[in-house]
Amino acid sequence: DVLPKRDKPDPVVRVSGLAKRFRRRDGSTVPAIDQVSFDVEPGDFVVLLGPSGCGKTTLLRSIAGLETPDEGSISFGGTVRFCSASRINVPPERRGVSMVFQSYALWPHMTALSNVAYPLQSRADSRRDKAEIARRARAALKLVGIAELEGQYAAQLSGGQQQRVALARALVSNDSLVLFDEPLSNVDAKVREQLRIELLTLQRELGFAALFVTHDQAEAMQLGNRIAVLQAGRIVQLASPLEVYTRPANRYVASFVGTMNEALGKVTAIKADTAVVDTDLGTVTGRLGAGRIGVGDRVAAMWRPENCTLSTCDPVAANRFRGRVRASLFVGPYTEQVVGIGDRELRVQVPGAGLLDAGSDVWVEVSEVDVLVLPAEDA
Ligand code: ATP
Repeated sequence: DVLPKRDKPDPVVRVSGLAKRFRRRDGSTVPAIDQVSFDVEPGDFVVLLGPSGCGKTTLLRSIAGLETPDEGSISFGGTVRFCSASRINVPPERRGVSMVFQSYALWPHMTALSNVAYPLQSRADSRRDKAEIARRARAALKLVGIAELEGQYAAQLSGGQQQRVALARALVSNDSLVLFDEPLSNVDAKVREQLRIELLTLQRELGFAALFVTHDQAEAMQLGNRIAVLQAGRIVQLASPLEVYTRPANRYVASFVGTMNEALGKVTAIKADTAVVDTDLGTVTGRLGAGRIGVGDRVAAMWRPENCTLSTCDPVAANRFRGRVRASLFVGPYTEQVVGIGDRELRVQVPGAGLLDAGSDVWVEVSEVDVLVLPAEDA
């Protein structure tokens, strides 16, 4: 019964039990990251997603070697580079990892070419001659589509161009792991979208693994083949974008990724994988999501705007809510209807230009397979 072990390549990076606390001025400590463990496999594009302050940057900087964790270990390609127990700590430049920052972090008085060439010159192991370094830096600038800007000073470039230079600088060393700390949040929306596509294409072509920090859930869904959702310093779900969107691990993930309508209440009955919930909006029936749920438990029934329908006559449906249109927002591919029910609001997405007059009485309907019932406390 002993199967021969398959040779699985080592993960590009393995983070085990990592923790980091910061001391506040008043002497108390804040856990910035708390027992974080995960692997990045070769070719992976892992996104660390979470709101401001959840520990994304601290985690990334610990992997880069810019922050010293209190506990845990970090290994690259099977070799431990940080281990709190044995106090091994390999400096950033010897980790074989490149990083792209939100602020670009370029030398303003150096040309695009010199900025890109910089890591090759400064790495201790590089004794390549100048011509070879310039050739590689030019090739990197070409990869990111700005070969013609090589002689421009960084300070003379637009935000989008500067970020391309920073990307070229990260790619020039051919490291197997590139870390990205919100690199697209300072460039305007159109350029950002273009850079996302180019980044994905480059990552697939060159084959490096990427670890990308963002607080933008749409960006996370577009880029990641896996998303790690962080909540207060911990990873609460690490899964594919589809899994995170359709099977969120808890209420926090459900409401952070995409938009959710929500009704809070108590479970009155459970049948197989369905729960009946007595909520402030009336009775709602939905399928049990993650977590243990029993009759009498406080839960959130949650459903997405795109899974609702609107009608003006009473639908025969398990989940229906009578309300009044507060606003009708035409977005282009769809119209977002904001429906008021007492002091509550539901969001409904209808395809195309489904404009309704504010004040119209409507029914919002959602099928029970599209309602997720999750424990109320994990918000
Ligand atoms: P943002 O998106 O705003 O950068 P983040 O998710 O990257 O947020 P971190 O910057 O990692 O979060 O911060 C995590 C927690 O640690 C926060 O509570 C923050 O205030 C605290 N923190 C981070 N760096 C320090 C520091 N140098 N000194 C003290 N506290 C810090």
